[in-house]
Amino acid sequence: MIVGIIGGGASGMAAALAAAEHPNVQVLLFERQARLGRKLQATGNGRCNLTNIHANAAHYYGADQGKFASAALERYDVENTLDWFSELGLYTVAEASGRVYPYSDQANSVVDVLRLALCKPNIQLLTGFEVQKIRREDCGFSIMTPEETVYCDKLIIACGGIAGTKLGGSMAGYKLLAKLGHHSTRLRPTLVQLKSPWGGVAGLKGVRANCKATILHDDKAVAEAYSRVKSEVGQVDILINCAGIITSNKTFDHCTTEEIHRTMAINTVAPMVVALQVLPDMIARNSGHICNISSAGGLISNPRMSVYAASKWAVIGWSDSVRIELEQMKSSVKVTTIAPYYIKTGMFEGVKSPIVPLMEPEYAARHIIRSIERNKRVSVITRLIPFPYHFVRLMQGILPTKLFDWFFGEVFGIYHSMDNFTGRQ
Ligand SMILES: Cc1cc2nc3c(=O)[nH]c(=O)nc-3n(C[C@H](O)[C@H](O)[C@H](O)COP(=O)(O)OP(=O)(O)OC[C@H]3O[C@@H](n4cnc5c(N)ncnc54)[C@H](O)[C@@H]3O)c2cc1C
Repeated sequence: MIVGIIGGGASGMAAALAAAEHPNVQVLLFERQARLGRKLQATGNGRCNLTNIHANAAHYYGADQGKFASAALERYDVENTLDWFSELGLYTVAEASGRVYPYSDQANSVVDVLRLALCKPNIQLLTGFEVQKIRREDCGFSIMTPEETVYCDKLIIACGGIAGTKLGGSMAGYKLLAKLGHHSTRLRPTLVQLKSPWGGVAGLKGVRANCKATILHDDKAVAEAYSRVKSEVGQVDILINCAGIITSNKTFDHCTTEEIHRTMAINTVAPMVVALQVLPDMIARNSGHICNISSAGGLISNPRMSVYAASKWAVIGWSDSVRIELEQMKSSVKVTTIAPYYIKTGMFEGVKSPIVPLMEPEYAARHIIRSIERNKRVSVITRLIPFPYHFVRLMQGILPTKLFDWFFGEVFGIYHSMDNFTGRQ
């Protein structure tokens, strides 16, 4: 029997070795690149994190709630995987986190043992062979490139995903499968890189840092999370309250009570609840910094975001009051309130601002860090207006409301900025 395998990556090579264990099977392994296992070579930052001794079905997510993963792991668990690599001649080592790497710390070693194992009489490697078409025959498949056609009785498509396009990731496999009548779910990125224009970040490549990401849904959860952070990480020196939502650009008469409660809970109540955990410890040790991210919408009224504006006005009032309280106590704990203009994160997709430009996230982030370093009290971030906080407050103080509305609302276009808002889709 001839078994054709399209794709010479990790799964294609493993499938070829498994199929070749049957003496009556002849394996044809098709790989469009010149070498096998190119993506594998780049995995785990060049070290190849080949499994994890704590791997179990509970760590898998998806529409089938881990059913596929548990079926696969029941048939072939971590121990089987490690035994298999050991039989191939690969020494491995597990880190404290459970991640398993080749003893050499080189992904090349994994690729090498696989390539070596593939040197069997009943395995034929066809590199540089890009399968472009598959035709289902009466009892098998024809595998075609523009130049040649090869027949096989059984076919395994192991073309990999689209991740790592420079390493061979492509849509080819999905397309071949779709032509055979298979459906795929929507593709989504999972583990992704973070891009930054700041050159210094390149030096951090490959550095792992422990961090905790927690979704806090009630006061008790906040208290528990804070005590966990204290015991596992240590004292909190800087708290940045930055979670925020905007639900729509509806005028207030169309808003729902659910939207009002959700917006106020996330934008206004949450920063207070989190700060309430952290602040007593900061006051006790007389050091620390709380930075609360409000919004320029918390300074200037704006149609089509009334609930959002209310939530952000409240943040400014609360946050700056805490700042004054701490100053009156002569505490060294600092509070900075940030009120950024629209930032291009996607949260305000569709917003139009003809005069004051929308800001890049990196610009806003740099400004926030500088404001914390300089212990600024209230800081409005825009790209056009110098001293914007004082400028806006002064204008609100000296201009008659009609003139203020005309100048900021119409001339600057702020009162129509939300007209085409779509937000994140
Ligand atoms: C940067 C990076 C780091 C990673 N680190 C880890 C890690 O440390 N640990 C881990 O477990 N996973 C890691 N992964 C994920 C891991 O690389 C993949 O899960 C794994 O490579 C999938 O193997 P595969 O054989 O399914 O696909 P691939 O490795 O993508 O192999 C598919 C092969 O099919 C070939 N092919 C495609 N179309 C055709 C065609 N039409 N004709 C012929 N050949 C074709 C491709 O050239 C490719 O060689 C990482 C991924 C990336 C991108």
